[in-house]
Amino acid sequence: MKRPLYLDYNATTPLDPAVLADMLPYFTEKFGNSSSGSHIYGLEAQVTIDHCRKKIAELLNFPHPDHIIFTSGATEANNLALKGLAHGAKSKIHLITQKTEHRSILEVAKSLEKEGHHLTILPVDAHGLVKPADLEAAITPETALISIMAANNEIGTIEPIREIAEICREKNILFHTDAVQALGKIHFSYTDLLFDMMSFSGHKIYGPKGVGALVLGPRVKLSSIKPLFHGGGHQQGMRSGTLDTASIVGLTRALELSLINYKTESVRLTELRDYMIKELSSLKGFTLNGHPTMRLPNNIHFSLGGVTNTDLIQRMPQIAVSSGSACASGSGLPSHVMSAITQDQNRLSSSIRMSLGKSTTKEDVDLAIRCIRDALTL
Ligand code: PMP
Repeated sequence: MKRPLYLDYNATTPLDPAVLADMLPYFTEKFGNSSSGSHIYGLEAQVTIDHCRKKIAELLNFPHPDHIIFTSGATEANNLALKGLAHGAKSKIHLITQKTEHRSILEVAKSLEKEGHHLTILPVDAHGLVKPADLEAAITPETALISIMAANNEIGTIEPIREIAEICREKNILFHTDAVQALGKIHFSYTDLLFDMMSFSGHKIYGPKGVGALVLGPRVKLSSIKPLFHGGGHQQGMRSGTLDTASIVGLTRALELSLINYKTESVRLTELRDYMIKELSSLKGFTLNGHPTMRLPNNIHFSLGGVTNTDLIQRMPQIAVSSGSACASGSGLPSHVMSAITQDQNRLSSSIRMSLGKSTTKEDVDLAIRCIRDALTL
């Protein structure tokens, strides 16, 4: 059976063959444990991981390679940032975040609230943007951490994180950003964005699944973060567990390739995105969800009044698209992101996300447009 055209790159991406090629030797001949310092196998892994840290730091214009903590992905990195800081604090902290964050932020924040920490979840506007003025107004003397994502995984809205970082610096509060969707798609440099903690993941940038990192800026004392796992004390005690050299090599190469290519690729994707939005906007009941311009170059998220997303997706077997984020789809509940920007039941039940990627062509976009038009007339 012919597989459908993949248009779900915000959910995950295929591994770039160049990334796979770099990873392969670390599964076989270069299999050493980076903690085995007494022989070439271990030393080789250690040198490779050190090199990866330096490379990632260089790519992000980040001054502290040793403050890059490799994790099993962004879910763990987000847990480490929030729980690590809260559990490492001497007293209960106040944490501010916002409604459209990924559940690996929201659920962690809510669990901290249950433990007695204070939590503010800010609303967003109709485009999914958090207002820096709301954020400033929510700050209390106990506010220790603000976590706002760089870009939303469902509706693609890009948040004003530089502005938020500046507020945090002025008020002496730490700023964490979940950059999973932004990295490799928009300009992303530590010196411009000034985050204190940043999470990212391999599988959204054509790297392997099961690997990511938490980057801890110079304002974060490692001793102030309580690790999630205890064990052999790897990664300065921040994350015990034998390092997965192959995955770390893959993560590094994937980041390098996506950052090198992001400018030309984002221009190409923005053109395809805007073309698709223009073509679809004439359909009855079409509403674009998310911000018209402050949005990821590859993200098209819309609602079509009168037909549910489950019906529409079933009528389009030729394309693989999503009715929300991969994590929320399948639950049957309206997405928390859509619910944060609208109460309109029609919009909530008919939302569809199409996310474009490296292999998406104009012909692919035309096919998707045809599929949607045909599905509406069925
Ligand atoms: N944050 C965002 C914004 C995401 O899109 C995702 C993945 N859907 C995650 C965090 C979780 O990343 P991972 O799959 O690496 O745990």
